[in-house]
Amino acid sequence: MLSLDRFAQQKLSEIAQKHLLRELKTTAPTEGTHVIRNGKPCLSFSSNDYFGLSQHPTVKKAAIEAINTYGTGAGASRMVTGNHPLYSALETKLAHAKQKDASLVFGSGYMANLGAITALVGKGDVVIADKLVHACMIDGAQLSGARLLRFSHNNIDACRKLLQTHRQNYRHCLILTETVFSMDGDFAPIENLAALSVEYDSWLLADDAHGLGIAPSIKSPSLVYTGTLSKGLGSYGGYIAAAKSVIDYFANTARSFIFTTGLPPSAIAAATAALELITNIPSLPQQALSNAKYFSQLMKLPEAQSPIVPLVTGSPEKTMQLSQALEERGFLVSAIRPPTVPRGTSRLRFTFSSLHGKSDIEDVVKQLRQCDVWN
Ligand SMILES: *Cc1c(COP(=O)(O)O)cnc(C)c1O
Repeated sequence: MLSLDRFAQQKLSEIAQKHLLRELKTTAPTEGTHVIRNGKPCLSFSSNDYFGLSQHPTVKKAAIEAINTYGTGAGASRMVTGNHPLYSALETKLAHAKQKDASLVFGSGYMANLGAITALVGKGDVVIADKLVHACMIDGAQLSGARLLRFSHNNIDACRKLLQTHRQNYRHCLILTETVFSMDGDFAPIENLAALSVEYDSWLLADDAHGLGIAPSIKSPSLVYTGTLSKGLGSYGGYIAAAKSVIDYFANTARSFIFTTGLPPSAIAAATAALELITNIPSLPQQALSNAKYFSQLMKLPEAQSPIVPLVTGSPEKTMQLSQALEERGFLVSAIRPPTVPRGTSRLRFTFSSLHGKSDIEDVVKQLRQCDVWN
């Protein structure tokens, strides 16, 4: 029998041979866009804290006050005693931001997607997902027991074809997409997908993890939004926004909502303060977007639609070498490899923050052009 240790070693060496081994690196954030990696300050283009709100004085103050008032942990699941008074203000604001009647906060975006999908579909139903949707939606679809079909990225016609062929064979049908795609930074054709879902008596779930403050919210009766408190809001947690009855149904049935402890009060208070800032200061998200646009212009890439800009390099090996070369020069840009993205599309994923300055962007472009691997 293979010992546990040998089993793990063998698996790891297989992963390493494909240049896909991942390791945890300690990274300490600072106020602003620098992080300390291996004791060295680096300018980061790798954070999803797009508007710098995890370090914003107003957001920090809200979190600290929540700890002083309610303590550090929720103490129980929300259905028991973990539903502390800060939840309802956040849920009202999230619903409003997403143009829905109600919202429900989950432990994370991952759990929100898992909970929503498994509550909406099961055996005898079908899920039709964009090829590039996030792993947590695929996990949700698989866990649900529904049949899973995929359509090529943002291809409305391909989605329609699947609906034409398969819709009538299943009880319920759920279409999955993202408002802003996490690894490509492009927008889904939400209006068209929503219309298609109505036409084919289906539901649409759009993951807004990267869209808050960036992608407009649309109104559609068949649409459910999921999202996270952990990216643009600089906190931790996830949510679903939908019609009131749908939200009540999730609260009663989503297992990733029921069987887990509520979030710490500080996480909720921080997210609430951050959402207020994004809503009241539209120039905050706009700045992250214009920084991304400036980068795409300098790099002669298609104009950025969101703060996420991929630079596809192809092989995982080249991507890792570029990321390492940039890190040696003091710039942190994540190397994204399979299985996070499809094979052959390994990339550097640049994310821009409202806090980056023009010169930061000019510097990283200059350094990139000087890397041997790039040329
Ligand atoms: C990050 C992300 C998630 C997961 O959200 P967490 O709050 O980090 O669990 C879900 N969907 C997409 C598209 C994401 O990018």
